[in-house]
Amino acid sequence: MVTWLTIIYWMLIGAAFGSFVNVVVYRLPQGISLLWPPSHCPACKSRLGMTENVPVLGWLWLGGRCRHCGAAIHWRYPLVEAVGATLFGLVAWKMQASFLTPASFIDVAAWGCLVALLLALSLIDLDTMELPDELTRAGILGGLLFRTFGPVLVTGMWASGPPGLMDGLYGLLLGLGLFDLIGYLGERLLGKEAMGGGDAKLAAMLGVWLGWQGLLVALGIGFCLGAVVGVVGLATGQLKREQAFPFGPFLACGGIAGLLFGETLIASYLRLIY
Ligand SMILES: [Zn+2]
Repeated sequence: MVTWLTIIYWMLIGAAFGSFVNVVVYRLPQGISLLWPPSHCPACKSRLGMTENVPVLGWLWLGGRCRHCGAAIHWRYPLVEAVGATLFGLVAWKMQASFLTPASFIDVAAWGCLVALLLALSLIDLDTMELPDELTRAGILGGLLFRTFGPVLVTGMWASGPPGLMDGLYGLLLGLGLFDLIGYLGERLLGKEAMGGGDAKLAAMLGVWLGWQGLLVALGIGFCLGAVVGVVGLATGQLKREQAFPFGPFLACGGIAGLLFGETLIASYLRLIY
């Protein structure tokens, strides 16, 4: 049984991860070092003190303004921290984490890193319409490592071969293959690029972590969400015809939903068709 204490513990870690996601999203596309200089106000460059660096609360405490120059600090920063906290809490609940058990710690930390990575990729895609190769590549590599060695670390037993790795490799190939096919068909039918190469790598990354079945669930949810937002956007005039919009955030949402509710969704789908 997962306790509230455990969930709150992971939510605090998630808020700190959310804080780092903000740094990555702001700095990576500009090619600024992620570690140096420490957090500072973008307007007046003054460094943030200890209390201002506390996720969400620091922003609320300062009323959303820099203490030195009074420049407004965007509400997106505390929101991302709150989302990070919520997602880590959900992962801890999903993994039925137990407090301070090493195996459970590794499990939640690994899946938490995936979720934080998806959050960063979504925000960068929204900002720049790109999914940086550094992040998707790190996600693929991390996923392959976790699927190979994770079960041993978590259960302490080396089962006959790493089955998770094969499942992850099938997922990787499915992600790359499907998006190649979509790209090919899109070019043939629409005469233009239908999907970015970054989307294929993101799908491959989700395939590694979730396996090929989990990837299908993630893609299904992602395409449905994208279609709904596209239709609503066109109907309300927020989107123009032919206007490209980033697909990464939808894929990422599909991936997170697949991670949290994938087995339930697959089970109810199978009940539906049999
Ligand atoms: Zn300032």
